[in-house]
Amino acid sequence: MTDLHGRHRAVLPDWLASYYRQPIEITHGEGRYVWDADGNRYLDFFGGILTTMTAHALPEVTKAVSEQAGRIVHSSTLYLNRPMVELAERIATLSGIPDARVFFTTSGTEANDTALLLATAHRRSNQILAMRNSYHGRSFAAVGITGNRGWSPTGLSPLRTLYVHGGVRSRGPYAHLSDARFIEACVADLEDLLGHTRDAAALIAEPIQGVGGFTVPPDGLYAAFREVLDRHGILWISDEVQTGWGRTGDHFWGWQAHAGNGPPDILTFAKGIGNGMSVGGVVARAEVMNCLDANSISTFGGSPVTMAAGLANLTYLLEHDLQGNARRIGGLLLERLRAVGAQSPLVREVRGRGLMIGVELVKPGTDEANPEAVAAVLEAAREGGLLIGKGGGHDTSVLRIAPPLSLNVTEAETGAAILEQALRAG
Ligand code: PMP
Repeated sequence: MTDLHGRHRAVLPDWLASYYRQPIEITHGEGRYVWDADGNRYLDFFGGILTTMTAHALPEVTKAVSEQAGRIVHSSTLYLNRPMVELAERIATLSGIPDARVFFTTSGTEANDTALLLATAHRRSNQILAMRNSYHGRSFAAVGITGNRGWSPTGLSPLRTLYVHGGVRSRGPYAHLSDARFIEACVADLEDLLGHTRDAAALIAEPIQGVGGFTVPPDGLYAAFREVLDRHGILWISDEVQTGWGRTGDHFWGWQAHAGNGPPDILTFAKGIGNGMSVGGVVARAEVMNCLDANSISTFGGSPVTMAAGLANLTYLLEHDLQGNARRIGGLLLERLRAVGAQSPLVREVRGRGLMIGVELVKPGTDEANPEAVAAVLEAAREGGLLIGKGGGHDTSVLRIAPPLSLNVTEAETGAAILEQALRAG
């Protein structure tokens, strides 16, 4: 055990998991590569959990951060903050939500907490509909709407949560149905559920489940849900913490794959927008955002340095069409990994969209989760010079691939080749 690992274990909580038998210390990065303290270089296919969105050490972001830090680091929302107003204006327009207001937080958890606060206050109900296999953060309220046992350390909750079918396409009671029939069955289940309860405040859902293993529902599922929700006056919260900013390639937001009845009532974001600076936030139409009748503040939310980073990062993303890059390179990578998967008895499914690709592993010849193989493949990939993530229900049986959105063809090929080797070793 390295000295730092020992010190980490002695002073940090046991439930704060690190990857690898011998966790690595990442000391610097550039583009899609990072280096550890021993000088080893890795191709980064996880971006610190989908957070290094454009590239490591992107000069535009570094410059914006250092210039802003040289002027003022913090002032609070008690005073006007130009970078915060500018980023809010841009996100309001991009969100597609009419008459949008934006509130900045410091994390995805706090963003979702705020969305729950807004929805429950607006609807005067503490009942929430959430998806099975979901993840929305670590606060007391967020774990109360997390349908993944592995990430829900308490059954206590300030909310009453009902879990809906549909987030997981290829497992569960409706897996055998066609896409259209799958949607019909999930809608019927939702209608039935609502018949047994009353006055739910909102449905919260990740358009593609992140921690849950990059599970992709059929396009249109949430549009079909929306019709039912509208009839009951129930709000739709789209948790775009992982799916936002073009990562899915085909769309700028994950909800756009379900746009039948327009945008969600509330959208939450975090992770990638700050490229590692702590930026999260909520977008809602003014009527919903303004429903609170007491003060509410996030001292660090919208702090000038993080907002400057967000603005520079977003500008780079849009000017370089990284959504288009995610679609193109993600498409190539998905195709390549499907070919690799077809050769491996460990691989049950390769799925995803854009640069958000999941490889689900099973015990060969069965449909059983294989967390041991996932751990072994992660380890072998690292030895080969590739960092990837893992996820999936409580039994962690999915490899998660989510590189920075500027990934190029050569890097995609290199990463796929290392993963192919790692799957053989795993
Ligand atoms: N929502 C989703 C979909 C997430 O993936 C995460 C983080 N993995 C969160 C919310 C919570 O974000 P944070 O860790 O920044 O609080």
